[in-house]
Amino acid sequence: MRKKIVAGNWKMNMTPSEAVALCETLKPLVAESEADVVLCVPAIDICPVVEAVRGTNIAVGAENLYYEDKGAYTGEISADMILDAGAKYVIIGHSERRDYFKETDAIINKKVLKALEKGLIPIVCCGETLEQREQGITIDWVRMQIKIAFQGVSAEQAKGMVIAYEPIWAIGTGVTATTEQAQEVCKAIRDVICEVYGTDTAEAIRIQYGGSVNAKNAAELFAQPDIDGGLVGGASLKADFGVIATA
Ligand code: PEP
Repeated sequence: MRKKIVAGNWKMNMTPSEAVALCETLKPLVAESEADVVLCVPAIDICPVVEAVRGTNIAVGAENLYYEDKGAYTGEISADMILDAGAKYVIIGHSERRDYFKETDAIINKKVLKALEKGLIPIVCCGETLEQREQGITIDWVRMQIKIAFQGVSAEQAKGMVIAYEPIWAIGTGVTATTEQAQEVCKAIRDVICEVYGTDTAEAIRIQYGGSVNAKNAAELFAQPDIDGGLVGGASLKADFGVIATA
C-alpha cells in the first residue's frame, strides 16, 4: 500500500517572514494528515521554513536545483545546498520551468540524476498542453517525458521517487482534470514505469496529480487507484492546504 504524498508548491510567493507565518497557520491544519506532507518553497525560504516546521509532520522541498555540484553558475542552487539547508525533496521539471526557463527533457534528466546521487527525493513533473490533449497525443507525450527523465535511474532509485502528472491547461487556471482524465494518465505513467522497471517499481513509485487541486476536489482525485496524492500550487498558500492534506 503506497502512502499518499501531498506537496505544496509555493512558486515565487512568500517572503521569509511571510513563509514562517504561513507555516504557523498550516502546522495545526495538517497535523492529523496520514499522508506525507511536503512544502516546496522558494530557495530563500528553505532555512526559515525548515526551522518553522521542525518537530512536525511537515517535510520541506526545493522548487528547483542545478545539476552541477558547485562553481560559476550565478543564481543557481545545488543539491548539497538544499540538503544542508534541511530539505528532503526537490521539484524537477515543473511546466513553468520548462516553459519560461527553457528546461528540456535532457536537462531535467540531469537534474534527476544529480538529486538522486545526493540523496534528495525528486518530484518529477510531466504533463501535456491543451493543444496536445486535443490532438490526442497526451499519453504519448507524457510517456516520452517520463522515459527521458528516468534515463540512467535504477529500479531501486525509481521506487523512492515521486512523479507529478500536471496537465498544463489545469495549472493555476481553476480548471481541474476530471478524475477519469487524471486517473487515465496516472495509470499510463505507472504502466510506462512497469515496462521500464517491472511491477515492483511500478507498484512502489508514487504518482501525484496536480492542476487546480482544491479543498473540494482533492478527496475524489486522491481516491483514484493510481493517484497517490497531489502537487498543489495556489491552494497550498492558504488554509485549504490543510483540508487537501487530510483529504
Ligand atoms: C503547480 O504549480 O504545480 C500547480 C498544480 O498549481 P495549481 O494548484 O495552482 O494549479
